[in-house]
Amino acid sequence: MIQQAENILQQYYGYPSFRPGQKEAITHVLEGKNTLAVMPTGGGKSLCYQIPGLTLQGTAIIISPLISLMKDQVDALHSYGVAATYINSSLSHPEQQQRLRDMENGRYSFVYVAPERFDSPNFLAAINSIPLSLIAFDEAHCISQWGHDFRPSYRSIVPTLKKIANLPVLMALTATATQEVIKDIKELIDVEDTNVINTGFARNNLSFRIIKGRDKREFISEYLTQIPNESGIIYTATRKDADQLHYLLTKKGFAAGKYHAGMTEHQRKQAQMDFVQDEVTTMIATNAFGMGIDKSNVRYVIHYSMPMNIESYYQEAGRAGRDGEPGDCVLLFSSQDINLQRFLIDQSPNEEKKKDEYTKLQAMVNYCHTHSCLQQYILDYFDDPTDFEPCGKCTNCTHDGEEQDMTKEAQMVLSCVKRMGERFGAGLTAKVLKGSSDQKVKQFRFQQLSTYGIMPNYTEKELTRFIQFLTAEGYLSTGEGRYPSLKLTNEAVSVIKGNQPVLMLVESTTKKQKTEYNEHYFEELRQLRKSIADESNLPPYVIFSDATLKDLSIYLPESKEEMMNIKGIGEQKFEKYGEQFLEKTRRWGEAAETKSTPTRSTEPSVHKKDPFDDRPSHIISYELWEQGNDVKEIAKERGIGKQTIENHIFRAGKEGYEIDWDRWFDEEQERQILQAYDQMEERKLKPLKESLPERYCYSMIKAVLVKHNLIDE
Ligand code: ADP
Ligand code: ZN
Repeated sequence: MIQQAENILQQYYGYPSFRPGQKEAITHVLEGKNTLAVMPTGGGKSLCYQIPGLTLQGTAIIISPLISLMKDQVDALHSYGVAATYINSSLSHPEQQQRLRDMENGRYSFVYVAPERFDSPNFLAAINSIPLSLIAFDEAHCISQWGHDFRPSYRSIVPTLKKIANLPVLMALTATATQEVIKDIKELIDVEDTNVINTGFARNNLSFRIIKGRDKREFISEYLTQIPNESGIIYTATRKDADQLHYLLTKKGFAAGKYHAGMTEHQRKQAQMDFVQDEVTTMIATNAFGMGIDKSNVRYVIHYSMPMNIESYYQEAGRAGRDGEPGDCVLLFSSQDINLQRFLIDQSPNEEKKKDEYTKLQAMVNYCHTHSCLQQYILDYFDDPTDFEPCGKCTNCTHDGEEQDMTKEAQMVLSCVKRMGERFGAGLTAKVLKGSSDQKVKQFRFQQLSTYGIMPNYTEKELTRFIQFLTAEGYLSTGEGRYPSLKLTNEAVSVIKGNQPVLMLVESTTKKQKTEYNEHYFEELRQLRKSIADESNLPPYVIFSDATLKDLSIYLPESKEEMMNIKGIGEQKFEKYGEQFLEKTRRWGEAAETKSTPTRSTEPSVHKKDPFDDRPSHIISYELWEQGNDVKEIAKERGIGKQTIENHIFRAGKEGYEIDWDRWFDEEQERQILQAYDQMEERKLKPLKESLPERYCYSMIKAVLVKHNLIDE
């Protein structure tokens, strides 16, 4: 059966191999064992229940906490050609009835419902009367009272489930589960130890960064200016912040939307839609936003202030990069954030809970001050079972900014704070350091202080920023009151005494990322995707992921077969969208092939097709290859894709030019490939590749087929 699962992975989804944990999870479910899969966001949990659902007989019921999430999942399944639906309160009563009847008639492979649906006798009667393939709890941490999103209705299903006559195998999937939560889920839905798959929480494609002591609004403007076309979320701690920031950014001309609980349902829906459809690129939101968002091409998540705990932080930041492409997670820290979170916790009437929340807040604060790898810190917090090496990408791993020694400046600021009696805030302190003749400075006679005007070369803004940095680093604290007043900490005392240096990292705003794809082509493909999405009323990322578009921009496939080799393009997707994209990539591929741009280097390149060389392009490639150059070198020299060069060589071979096949494969490989080919029912390249061990690459297989005249080029 697992073979069948692998075929589905290929055929429906167009992925060549499973991600960590997927195969194990699917195998357990196919063997009828209740299974818990704990995998990071973007780890590919949906496939873990979708593939068994497509393999086993009957209808799969997926319990999902949020209505908006269901529609996305159903859209995605439709794009793979799978019969799926959801039944929830967003539908009219007659519509619900209709879908229920269709479900009873076995029309659907997947039905998504909210937990409350299990309170409906009609629904229970329906699922009792049909064969079920499985029941899956998506976002399963909601079932546990220890989880941070506990939903009582998730838990109260359990006794109802046990009464279902034809109860199928059960599955639970989550990205955020502490050991306590895991234990709870296991007990509730009877999962044995051996059927818990925990791949750890690490998100290798995310870079975690903490920025301290910068003006937050200025940082964000600069950030968005640098990458205006990428999708991202900015989380604020309050509605007011969201409103203000949204006002500011839209005024500056950024395509930003906003989302918080103070907006009407209609406004929120519209905002969410705009974001999902790539109408606005930046979403400014409170934590009310995101649970129902499956958008996979979110490239950054910026936290405007520190959230309340690591659980929320990781979940929110984790919405970046679900497609496996790089995601930038930036936390803009300032010490006032702590006061706000304390205030919010204090609103809780439950003393026990308050204590717990304070402990969690402290861990969050520590995250902002730790010097070790940020990803590692988070994994340790969740008792991640895997042995994780420092990520090499976070602020603490890279130090890609410049470190400046600011000890002397810090001493000036700290002594000034002391001389001012530790009763004032950053603004007035900055004025004194600058030497301002402000009314308030005069009123308190600060002109007489020895620290008055000792930092004249800085602007007040820069000084305020530096004071914020010192606060963030724990040299100053701001106290509890409504008007924060700066106070020295023990650390400050050792700085003043000269026992401790103060180093400040001046970081770049956006994370410099190497682009390995063709940005120009990518942009065009993205626009094509957007127009198809608008026509078909689907989110763009459901059509193809960013990763797939990037691959298209690199490989420029010129045929269906070449296109099907690209990750994320299966049969159905090719049928629906392939030709439209192929039209572009084929054109670019051919243009690259025949282009005869003069080289800029002083040494003329003999390898490019020069205008007076009237030999066909494939013969030029062939001759270069004959001279001993490898395909990669030729591709680079001629500015043509690798696959095309290979095709050139094969074509020459078919035309009777001699080919040294030893350069492609040895005898054993040739034998294996021919044997596999003989056993294939459907003699296509992709299934053939799948039936062979991974080391048999497409080029090798193709070469064998060409040699034996088994393929049309
Ligand atoms: P999760 O629910 O764990 O956050 P998803 O199921 O939404 O993650 O998957 C995230 C992305 O990864 C989706 O775009 C999905 O199609 C893709 N994906 C899943 N499994 C694989 C795989 N084996 N190979 C490549 N991409 C995959
Ligand atoms: Zn790191």
